[in-house]
Amino acid sequence: MDRAKALALVKEQLTDKRYEHTVGVMETAVQLAEKYGVDSRKAELAAIFHDYAKFRSKEEMRKIIIDENMPKQLLEYHSELWHAPVGAYLVRTEAGILDEDILQAIRFHTTGNKDMNMLDKIVFLADYIEPGRKFPGVDDVRKVAFENLNEAVVMALRNTIKFLLDKKQPIYPDTLETYNTLIRCQ
Ligand code: GDP
Ligand code: FE
Ligand code: FE
Ligand code: FE
Repeated sequence: MDRAKALALVKEQLTDKRYEHTVGVMETAVQLAEKYGVDSRKAELAAIFHDYAKFRSKEEMRKIIIDENMPKQLLEYHSELWHAPVGAYLVRTEAGILDEDILQAIRFHTTGNKDMNMLDKIVFLADYIEPGRKFPGVDDVRKVAFENLNEAVVMALRNTIKFLLDKKQPIYPDTLETYNTLIRCQ
């Protein structure tokens, strides 16, 4: 699928603000893919579609998680986590993207995963550092993202985990597992 078609499909699903975020993620993901020698076409499409399910109702997402045998554990955690695996499913069934690398990058974009590959890390980080993101510490991660991909993912995860602790929110096991896996291979 070409970029214009993908962007048009995603635009229908999102608010203007979320669409702008998506364009930022797309541009950042392509830059990172070029820097690290990863397929920039896959990075571009995964980034365009990463938040495809962001505005689906909780009811619809809950039903897909159950019917499609996704980890039941998701239902015990914040519904904000659901749009990533549900998005991967809908991007396949509604947008017709069959490339498993692209679908996996979408599936892992919120929590990460202990088995994430370079493409997954690029989409995860691009989501975190795209130019529209303003939170504390993001400039440090922006700089490191173009020097050491794993280190930048660890920094992003550390910030997210700290943020969740401060908000007294539960932390999804994959988030911690990703952090633990990457910090061991530093
Ligand atoms: P967005 O869709 O572009 O806003 O970004 P993400 O998909 O990366 O994240 C959506 C939300 O999930 C953010 O508010 C994160 O703080 C939150 N989040 C990420 N990891 C976890 C986690 O392990 N547990 C919980 N409860 N929330 C998380
Ligand atoms: Fe997201
Ligand atoms: Fe993210
Ligand atoms: Fe996003």
